[in-house]
Amino acid sequence: MDSLGVLLVAPMNAYLEQELDRRCRLFRLWESPADRRDDYLRAHASSIRAVVPYALQGVDAAMIDALPSLEIVSSFSVGIDRVDLDACLRRGVRVTNTPDVLTDDVADLAVGLAIAALRKIPQADRYVRAGKWKSKGDFTLTTRFSGKRVGILGLGRIGLAVAKRAEAFDCPISYHSRSEKPFPKYKFYPNVVDLAANCDVLVVACSLNPETRHIVNRKVIDALGPEGVLINIARGAHVDEPELISALLEKRLGGAGLDVFEDEPFAPEQLFELDNVVLVPHVGSDTEETCWAMADLVLQNLEAHALNQPLLTPVI
Ligand code: NAP
Repeated sequence: MDSLGVLLVAPMNAYLEQELDRRCRLFRLWESPADRRDDYLRAHASSIRAVVPYALQGVDAAMIDALPSLEIVSSFSVGIDRVDLDACLRRGVRVTNTPDVLTDDVADLAVGLAIAALRKIPQADRYVRAGKWKSKGDFTLTTRFSGKRVGILGLGRIGLAVAKRAEAFDCPISYHSRSEKPFPKYKFYPNVVDLAANCDVLVVACSLNPETRHIVNRKVIDALGPEGVLINIARGAHVDEPELISALLEKRLGGAGLDVFEDEPFAPEQLFELDNVVLVPHVGSDTEETCWAMADLVLQNLEAHALNQPLLTPVI
């Protein structure tokens, strides 16, 4: 695929960048100053046939319009909420993502965040480092994860992998999705407030779309309640953040474990002061193994496209 002009929107993965550079004609958007990006796109518009975005920086209608030779968007992510699919459809631009290869890592992190939030692992770590174990004695008692009722919002690939892991901790599983799934041992709730009212740990694992934006609102948070813990490993915009913050401050919600935020990389600073939250910087799929596999999938999709073969993981 030597002749394929590929625009990488950000330096998302060194291996991917190196392979794109080796195998294609690579354009690095970030090398152009932010206020000169339009000029950069105009200058290379006729050569760019593919764009590689990722979870934080997508492809909007303006970029699609600016690239008349664009044929394919191959995202280094499974979530394609920042790719304008309607604009791609209108222009006949193909779109691929990276499903499955990241599922285990994101599910591992969801369970890790739940345990970290309930058992206060980061707080306990800080307690030891600050010398407080020696000066103040034993750390506070915490709450167990084993046996807790786990509710999953979005029983897709990642949601199901979270459910399987939580089952191993003897957690009863319930869920809400657009449709009921063929898993009779998992209880289906047709609405998310009822799901939240009937679980101790609510894990957000659905895709982001107009229906799921701020799906975790005040009603859902209050239904989860003062003993409940919210885990979000999907997208920040699923949660109404000001409502989450006030519920945590007012102890209407027990705690939270958050990998994602609405305005990344800016996590709300009010969360930094809270002792009942665990915060990580959108690292759900960020292991060496998974990022390598995601990069290979992006490359394989581009190669298939260049050779006019079926795409491996098409979205459209
Ligand atoms: P998936 O298999 O497509 O699952 C998405 C789930 O969302 C499905 O169960 C779907 O329900 C549900 N859903 C969609 N719209 C809904 C609605 N209006 N109401 C209720 N449920 C709805 O995707 P996945 O591979 O599991 O990934 C899920 C999401 O995780 C991605 O979209 C991405 O945003 C996020 N993610 C985050 C990270 C990270 O680093 N933190 C990494 C990878 C992915 P139905 O099955 O009933 O349609």
